[in-house]
Amino acid sequence: MIVVLERGCSLKDKAAVVRFVEQAGGRLLVSELGDTSHIGLIDDRARSLADQIVAMPGVDRIDQHAPPYPQVSREHHGHDSLVGVRDVTIGGDDVVVIGGPCSVESAEQIDIVSRGVAQSGAKMLRGGAFKPRSSPYSFQGLGEEGLLLLAAAGRRTGLPIVTEVVAPEDVELVATHADMLQIGARNMQNFRLLSEVGSQPVPVLLKRGIASSIDELLLAAEYIASAGNSQVVLCERGIRTFETKTRNTLDLSAVPVLKAESHLPVIVDPSHAAGDRKLVPALAAAGIASGADGLLIEVHNDPDNALSDGPQSLTIESFAEAVNQVRAIASALGRRVAA
Ligand code: PEP
Ligand code: MN
Repeated sequence: MIVVLERGCSLKDKAAVVRFVEQAGGRLLVSELGDTSHIGLIDDRARSLADQIVAMPGVDRIDQHAPPYPQVSREHHGHDSLVGVRDVTIGGDDVVVIGGPCSVESAEQIDIVSRGVAQSGAKMLRGGAFKPRSSPYSFQGLGEEGLLLLAAAGRRTGLPIVTEVVAPEDVELVATHADMLQIGARNMQNFRLLSEVGSQPVPVLLKRGIASSIDELLLAAEYIASAGNSQVVLCERGIRTFETKTRNTLDLSAVPVLKAESHLPVIVDPSHAAGDRKLVPALAAAGIASGADGLLIEVHNDPDNALSDGPQSLTIESFAEAVNQVRAIASALGRRVAA
């Protein structure tokens, strides 16, 4: 619910509305859009105050149908947000490619892959240390050791690193080493984890849940922003449908929808959508064509023997080719792949 103040509403009237809501125990968000002030009433308790607020001096109207995610919604931010990960900016003119293995497996593996992706156009390095696997018998990641190996590879190549955090109690440890925290598809609605990454300053890469709607993804982002961290990048990584020829169905329409609904940057993960490395370059190109601000691509030096997600991992050579194709698409749209 949003309270729209009259054009030229005095500071005194504006302050009176804010005080009234706060004294009634409601949470709010004040923003300026053009020459009007908007006061977003964040929690449901504030709804009961609507009749009284609309009668206050300086109030033009109340919009009951405003989206339920005021902090990440475009209604409150006319411009696109930029998310800074060390010296890399996501959400600007440059398309940011993030490459690396599904899991960090050994010092040698992460060394080879990190150098390979750095030379082939990646601006950030990915790699899982804490892995959320469907089976308890699958490789679960190297944990803290993997985190340290990834951080060392990031330092050697100069690439900022992004890695997944799966539990609230691990956030502090992972945030000490990572430049960006990934919330995986399986944890998109782990609300305690969302609040935890929201109450620390490291930027967050939030992946869409396997069977989550776009609204649910935006509400998950709202959890993080409302806890205090607005440095959030959204990621479309494919959703479950009846189709069996791909691991998931890459919902490319989510990209323009998210860009219209939210000011947050949006990236596409073609690897988990495809499940098959042959399909990854085409989906990567399509992701950028649909308006995404970046890509998250799995790359392995020996995909056939990878400990996780080998079938969908590109070799370093095919990653370099895919990035070149993406470069051509980006330039046709007046953008560049960050060099
Ligand atoms: C991953 O990035 O390796 C991963 C587990 O992704 P998702 O959460 O999208 O399945
Ligand atoms: Mn993976």
